[in-house]
Amino acid sequence: MHRCRRCAADSVINMRQHRLALCEAHFVEWIEQITLRFIKKHRMFEPDDRILVAVSGGKDSLSLWRILLKLGFQADGLYMDLGIDAGCSYSKRSGEYVEKFAQNLSPNVKLHVLDVADIYGKTVPEMASLRRGGKKKSCSVCGLVKRHEMNRVARELGYTVLATGHNLDDEAAVLFGNVLHWEAEYLVRQSPMLPADGVGLTKRAKPLARFYERETAAYAIICNIEYMQEECPFSVGATSLRLKEVLNSMENSSPGTKLQFYFSFLRAKENSLLPEGQRPELRSCERCGQATGAPGLCAFCRLLEPARAASRLGQD
Ligand code: AMP
Ligand code: ZN
Ligand code: ZN
Repeated sequence: MHRCRRCAADSVINMRQHRLALCEAHFVEWIEQITLRFIKKHRMFEPDDRILVAVSGGKDSLSLWRILLKLGFQADGLYMDLGIDAGCSYSKRSGEYVEKFAQNLSPNVKLHVLDVADIYGKTVPEMASLRRGGKKKSCSVCGLVKRHEMNRVARELGYTVLATGHNLDDEAAVLFGNVLHWEAEYLVRQSPMLPADGVGLTKRAKPLARFYERETAAYAIICNIEYMQEECPFSVGATSLRLKEVLNSMENSSPGTKLQFYFSFLRAKENSLLPEGQRPELRSCERCGQATGAPGLCAFCRLLEPARAASRLGQD
């Protein structure tokens, strides 16, 4: 058993990549302080910002909400019911964890809940089936819907920043995928902080992007946060999981691999070692007003327009 580096009590976690073992209290303090430093370094937000935290009911986003409130930021929550059932009431149960967590917060902290099927008449799996490729495409459709809805709510309710709970395992896997296919445009845009673009995209921040999944899980457990442990049933077999497996195996033999991969990438960006991606000129979607690179309708509105969907089926 290792001893806590700070107080010599028994440690609860040993982070090999940092050569750091900490007790419960010092681990919680460490997570919060490192998060604050990361927020400042990437100029994510200030105390007078109104933050909307997208909470899925999982460990990362619920921990994030707790950390931001503890650090004194103004942070309300948004849960999007995507209508994923898949025989296990996935969305319904995820939402229950979020509601339960929100009940214990101070009354001036709000939780917004939206139901995609109530608003658009279709659940996310139903929207995904509009596209050829059905189940395989559901993760990308789901991502599209979530980004669109988060951004819409932030704009309509006047939030200045959107925060999500992406952790290092998520970010390193995305980075790995983008490097494998040398997706220059995505590489340029992958960042723990994306500024507002002036055409309707709210500033976005990922304050936990430098923590391993194991660390956010430990934080949630130590802080007695009850969270949805199951992965989304549609993510089974997703490419992102296979990328994570490869990175995990490297991390096992060489602790710190993921962190180093991600930090080297951020440093390269800071030093302009990446090519400037050709970012398409953004304009407003004719229907919903959100920023889009395409003329006419944005990807979300095109998805929901049956005539367009039908013609697209013929094309791809
Ligand atoms: P995922 O795309 O499922 O890996 O989730 C990444 C982040 O997106 C989470 O940490 C949340 O911040 C946010 N998120 C995912 N699903 C939802 C949801 N149903 N409602 C609100 N936020 C979500
Ligand atoms: Zn200690
Ligand atoms: Zn649109």
